Parts: sequence; C-alpha cells; structure tokens
Amino acid sequence: MCAVEVEENTLWSNVTPATAGLAKLTGVHDAEIAIVGGGVAGISLAYHLTEAGEAPVVLEAATPGSDAAGKSAGIIVSLPVRHSPYQILEKYGDIKGRRLVNLVGESGKYVFSLVQKLDLDCAPQQTGFLAPARTPQEVERVEKTASEWRSFGYGIQTVDKDTIRRLTGLDAYQGALLDPAGGAINPLAFVRELARVAVGQGARIYINSTVVKIHKEGTGWCLESERFRVSAKKVVLCAGGGNRNLFSGLARTVLPFKVFQVATEPLDGEIREVILPENHAMTDVNPNIFSLRYDRDGRLITACPAFIFNNAGGRIIRYVEERLRYFSPLLDAARIRYLWQGTPWIGRSVLPRFVKLSDGLFAIQACNGRGLAANTILGREVAGFIKQGHTENLNLSVEKPDPVRYHGLMSYLPAILINSVRLRSRVMHKFTSHHRYT
Ligand SMILES: Cc1cc2nc3c(=O)[nH]c(=O)nc-3n(C[C@H](O)[C@H](O)[C@H](O)COP(=O)(O)OP(=O)(O)OC[C@H]3O[C@@H](n4cnc5c(N)ncnc54)[C@H](O)[C@@H]3O)c2cc1C
Repeated sequence: MCAVEVEENTLWSNVTPATAGLAKLTGVHDAEIAIVGGGVAGISLAYHLTEAGEAPVVLEAATPGSDAAGKSAGIIVSLPVRHSPYQILEKYGDIKGRRLVNLVGESGKYVFSLVQKLDLDCAPQQTGFLAPARTPQEVERVEKTASEWRSFGYGIQTVDKDTIRRLTGLDAYQGALLDPAGGAINPLAFVRELARVAVGQGARIYINSTVVKIHKEGTGWCLESERFRVSAKKVVLCAGGGNRNLFSGLARTVLPFKVFQVATEPLDGEIREVILPENHAMTDVNPNIFSLRYDRDGRLITACPAFIFNNAGGRIIRYVEERLRYFSPLLDAARIRYLWQGTPWIGRSVLPRFVKLSDGLFAIQACNGRGLAANTILGREVAGFIKQGHTENLNLSVEKPDPVRYHGLMSYLPAILINSVRLRSRVMHKFTSHHRYT
C-alpha cells in the first residue's frame, strides 16, 4: 500500500491552470443581478446571462469550481440518479414533467456542445456513459429506464453481458445502460474555462469573497461580508451546500453525502487495453456504487463513499485497492496517487430544483451527486428566466424550499445507508463462497 493522505488538492487542481485576473471584492457596489457561488451552477448562470447582454456579479467564497464541481469525478451524465422519465411525469404532471425530462435528457449533450462552441480546454471525452447492472433485478431496471428514455426520443441503449464485459473489462456485470451522449471532462477546468469566457463577456467574478449575510433592501437584496456590500435587484443563490447557510428556509433542505475520490498514476499497456478500452465513463447502479473513468493522461478515477467512523487515508486506500482488485485482478497493478474528499448535497426529491425564496431571490438546488450536466443546463434556463422576467420559456418549475423532515437525524441517513450495504456485502462475503466483497 502506498502512503497517500487525503489532500486538500485534488487531481484536478494539480493539472488545471488557475483563472487569471480574478480579485476579491471590497467596498460598496450595485448590481442588477448578483450570483452567490461560482461553482458549475453559478458560473453557467453567469455565462448565460452575459450571452443575454447582462453583466452579473458573482461572489465566490474561494475560486471558481473549488468546491463540489472541482472535487467531482467529472462524469457527464444526463440521467437523474433515481427517477425514470415516467416517474418525473408522475411527480410533475404531463406538461411540466415532459419539459423537465427533455431538459435533463439533453443536459449531457449540452455540456459537450458548450465545450465545443466555446473551445473550453477541459479534456472533454464524449465517449459514452455506462450504467452497468450486477443483478437480474438491476438489469430489468436499466432496461426499463432505457426504454422509457427511448420513448422520449433519446438514444439510450442497453447492452448484454458479453458486451458490458468487453466495454468495461469487468466480470461483475450482467448488462448495462449505455448513453452515447455522456462521457467525462476535467470538471474544474470546465468551470474555470467557462468563468474565463463569462468574464470576457462582461461578468464580474470575485474570488475569496464569502457572502455571510443576505437581507432585503428596498425592492432588492443586499449581500454582505465584513469587507463588502453588494446591492442587487435580483439574487440567485448558487452556493451548493453553502445555500443552506445563506437563507433560513434552505437550512434543512439538503443532506450531506461525503465521498472520497481516488485517482491512480497514469496507466497503460494491458490495463488500458482491457479496462474501459473504448474510454467510457461508468457508474454502476448497485447501492454500493462503483464508478470508473480515465482522465486525459490515463489516470483511473474511482470513488469511495466515506465510512461512518475512521476515514483515515490509509483505510480508504486499502478499501479502494481491495475493491479494484475485486473488480479486476489486473487493477492490482494500479498505484493510487491522489485522494481527496468532497460532499455532494442531496435534496429530498433527488431531482434538480429551482427555488423561489422571495421576490427577486432564488436558488439553484441541483447537486444530488450528479449535478455537473444538470447545473450547466439549469444555468441556461435560469438566465433566460431572470432576463425575461416570466416563466413562459422556463423548462423547470419554480418551486418552494422542500425541507427534509427530522433533518438532524436524517443527515446521517446517506452515510448509514451506504455503510449498511457495505456491511451486508462483507458479511455475505464471509459466509457464502459465491458472494464476493465489493
Ligand atoms: C466527490 C464528488 C464527486 C462527484 N462526482 C460527480 C460526477 O462525476 N458527475 C456529476 O455530474 N456530478 C458529480 N458530483 C456532483 C457535482 O459536483 C455537483 O452536483 C455540482 O458541482 C454542484 O454544483 P454547484 O454549482 O451547485 O455547487 P458547487 O460546485 O459546490 O459550487 C458552489 C460554490 O459556492 C461557493 N460558496 C459556498 N458558500 C458561499 C458563500 N457563502 N459565499 C460565496 N460563495 C459560496 C463555493 O465555494 C463553491 O465554489 C460530485 C460531487 C462530489 C463532491
């Protein structure tokens, strides 16, 4: 085992140039539109507002993409974590449901089209996204989901056992869903590059500028810290998990799900020929999620949800190495080089949400562990809505905050669920010869 510790620096921050020319904010300022948070949601919104001729102010606590976006695996996938298209229709009704299905359905393709249109240097790999299934029940589920997406005109395919074995190099799977429009990017570079374009088009992005207080001021809103004060007619909170600290109505709307990300040294030879030979990105549909993708230099990236206790770097690495070996003995040779931790925030519906908090004050709440594509396209939608001032062209419902009941207790739920699945797997492994520890 190698001595890798959990780092503040991610793989992405080591390989991505910083956005030049951004400064922190001081003093008193006015803005038509202010955005709190420069993650993928905030920067996409800022960029799309500049496209519509606006000059938004973005206040970012650290630097663009430095939180969830830049800590993510960078897998671009349009499909929501939990809901199939028909389930979305059930929840939102036929008209609004269809608009949301189509919005989410085109989100992956939209990311890659934006990357191409703006020539963003973020190592795009639109090589397809796989959602492999380990059990017959999971196969049935992915087949049903794929067929629903097809009925909406999306080219989502399913592949059989032999094909998924060939596409992943792994024996654990019985079949898979394949979204040819998905893939992967360097997520930090994506946000930083989009920030660069937004600034070039008139956005004012301030770094190291944490908003600590928001209050009503006349017909608009005032955003404050000890160092600055910004008065804006319209404000959109895009602070990811930070939204919950900015507005009391959002305090109990999301649950943390701590995840470690791991990246190996660059791999070549037999491993590259066998494991994901066509460079797909994959996240399987098992409750004890296993994900894999390569970066531009051939580093394999995988995730490991945090343990309830003892998340020492050595323990995470041991677990990840054991898991990689389980999925393919070939991966025994992969040396882990980067280990970092991030927190996706999960809402009650596990769907992207755009929330109205008060007149002129809104929030994008769309993380749910899979928000890169969703938040990019939500940025486009919300920019249109803010610019036009009406919901006619908005493909999203404007919702109210949706608090989680028994929030204090429920905050432990994501970790408890994933750890109980792991424990079950470990016990099964111990007592049955055919079940292996995953
Ligand atoms: C470990 C991990 C792996 C993931 N893997 C994937 C993946 O492979 N694919 C995928 O689609 N999604 C993935 N996700 C989810 C994805 O990263 C998020 O859905 C997405 O980044 C959320 O975007 P956001 O802009 O809402 O939030 P963030 O990216 O968190 O951005 C919010 C920004 O707001 C800033 N901020 C916070 N508070 C304040 C404040 N008070 N004042 C000013 N600024 C503030 C933060 O510094 C941050 O930059 C992953 C997330 C994690 C943590």
